[in-house]
Amino acid sequence: MVDPLPSYDRWGSLKGKRILVRVDFNTPVADVDGRLQVTDDFRIRATLPLFEELLSRGAVVVACTHFGRPRGHVVEKYRVEPVRRRLHELCRDVELLENLRFDPGEEGNDPEFGAALVAGFDYYVNEAFGASHRAHASIMVPPTLIPSAAGLNLARETSTILGLLENPARPFVAIIGGAKVADKLAITKVLCEKADTVIVGGGMAYTFQAALGHSVGSSLFDASYVEQCAQLLAAGNVVIPTDAWGLPSASPFGAHAGAEPATLFGADIPEGFVGLDIGPASAEHFADVIEGAATILWNGPMGVFEDERFAGGTEAVARAVAKPDAVSVVGGGDSVAALRAFGLEGDVSFVSTGGGASLELVELGDLPGLRALRESPFP
Ligand code: AMP
Repeated sequence: MVDPLPSYDRWGSLKGKRILVRVDFNTPVADVDGRLQVTDDFRIRATLPLFEELLSRGAVVVACTHFGRPRGHVVEKYRVEPVRRRLHELCRDVELLENLRFDPGEEGNDPEFGAALVAGFDYYVNEAFGASHRAHASIMVPPTLIPSAAGLNLARETSTILGLLENPARPFVAIIGGAKVADKLAITKVLCEKADTVIVGGGMAYTFQAALGHSVGSSLFDASYVEQCAQLLAAGNVVIPTDAWGLPSASPFGAHAGAEPATLFGADIPEGFVGLDIGPASAEHFADVIEGAATILWNGPMGVFEDERFAGGTEAVARAVAKPDAVSVVGGGDSVAALRAFGLEGDVSFVSTGGGASLELVELGDLPGLRALRESPFP
């Protein structure tokens, strides 16, 4: 059990105090009528309660964020302007600084960059859960220099995930999907210890299927992980697909791909074919297991859900996860996008905003940015 995160309630009156709030406004933007505009303002809206609380207590609030990957240079398309415009439509009184990553000191965790950032501020609040797994200057340095606290969402997200791992109502079922087994194997291992059942789907499942001796055709597969997948399967609480929807290897797939009908396979995908979604028997079995759960953690789609031919498995899982009588935490941009696409976002207990950060918190039980807040020496 780690120490609780410091709260800003301990500071008393905030009248006239200048507060720097680190947010994660790394939102999608698109060109609309010749101007870049925010296409999903979820992360901005999620921060409004914190801003409103600090403002109502009389503070002067300035926010800072990273935005895209300019890699330490000023890159016009990564200016925060579209984000700032949307923010000011929702909340006029918060200033937003220019993209932190325009300066190499941000990703380099440079103490001087961090010191310049907090100059003139009385307090620092970290409300950027999704960036707190990175030891970057705006996350790490402020707590060493001025009194610092956790934002509302960061505190809630952290306690939800840690609470779920510490004392889950059972049965606890975890569902892990997504493209690459290399990205998700570490968390799958941890979940095999914590959860009663771990369901594995998506592209990463084919390496597990190969570990059982099945052929996977030209599906996603990583030979260097077969041995570890075999060990996890031997532990006995991992459930993997037994059928798959797919296509001939040369046939295009994805968001705007062709209309060639999908082919159904059993547990073996023949040479010349690629598996792109779990099949109907797997979807039904996964949904049954999920429906028996009291606690559910879901991260990663079951197939190439951007292509409607291969969205069925992810939809079946989303519908099973969104049941009213379980504690359900959904993380990762794709799983959240899928929930939203099926209109189920309001039916889960908690939607986690920080994909990489929530995986790392599950895996390691802590994050660099959380540690920095707890170790801050100021009252
Ligand atoms: P991740 O970022 O690792 O969570 O992976 C999400 C991506 O995995 C989505 O864009 C899916 O299209 C992709 N994906 C899921 N299943 C498969 C599959 N069987 N083959 C190829 N890509 C997949």
